[in-house]
Amino acid sequence: MLVTRFAPSPTGRLHKGHAFSALTAWTAARDAGGRFLLRIEDIDPTRCRPEYETAILEDLAWLGLDWDGPVRRQSDHRADYAAVLANLDERGLLYRCFRTRKDILNAIGDAPHGPMEAARPGPHPADDEARRLDQGQAFAWRLSLNRARAALSEATWNGLAFDEEGRGPEGQHGVVPVRPEAAGDVVLARKDAGVAYHLAVTHDDALQGVTHVVRGQDLFEATHVQRLIQTLMGWPAPIYRHHRLLTGPDGRRYAKRDRSVTLAELRAQGVTAQALRAELGFSSVG
Ligand code: GLU
Repeated sequence: MLVTRFAPSPTGRLHKGHAFSALTAWTAARDAGGRFLLRIEDIDPTRCRPEYETAILEDLAWLGLDWDGPVRRQSDHRADYAAVLANLDERGLLYRCFRTRKDILNAIGDAPHGPMEAARPGPHPADDEARRLDQGQAFAWRLSLNRARAALSEATWNGLAFDEEGRGPEGQHGVVPVRPEAAGDVVLARKDAGVAYHLAVTHDDALQGVTHVVRGQDLFEATHVQRLIQTLMGWPAPIYRHHRLLTGPDGRRYAKRDRSVTLAELRAQGVTAQALRAELGFSSVG
């Protein structure tokens, strides 16, 4: 059975882009007689707010969407993520990173490297780490690509791939080879949250039996590292359907900063859910 999910982070009001994503996933589930799950990805303590979560439920209901089973709220499951982290740590796949964002940017300097996210700062020297631990400095946990590679067989590492039934930003479709280097040594536990997005999302997709991850192309690159984590943890490989990103009249993609296109704002302007669904190409819903 097809199982998919919509997994918004309650860091602002939902906008048209979210509506498009939720409708795409919901329609995939309903057309296949499958299940549509709703997951609130609220592990970021600084940006997530309970009132946005309430608003998400309201907006989705207004849109005419329903979901199967209870809503999973990630912040209620921190112990689950800590257990995965402990497992990876026991296997020597993680290292502590005390650096600040600024330290990493400085280290990258002017060199023609990839984005900040692709950083591979490496472990601190043992004495430096011991000193910082002594001082009680906060640290993040990063996944070491070198150690992950060593933990997997050459064949597994070279064969890492995911099935793309949608399209990547450059038209990628079908079997997409994984390029873990593009992501670098990703943070699996943030200094302030004890967990980070890639770990929580892969854990939950596995736990909830998600067979199809239907989401925007903005998360296509994230799939590379998520597929690696799934492999390291022995979790099943979902099929991916990345969808195009909706763009506004100015050709830019919708984002949380564009307040004028929040669903709440549209509703206040008198736009009906039916009209919005039709505009987004989902006229048969509801
Ligand atoms: N929580 C993520 C976001 O709001 C989406 C996670 C996903 O679909 O994998 O961007």
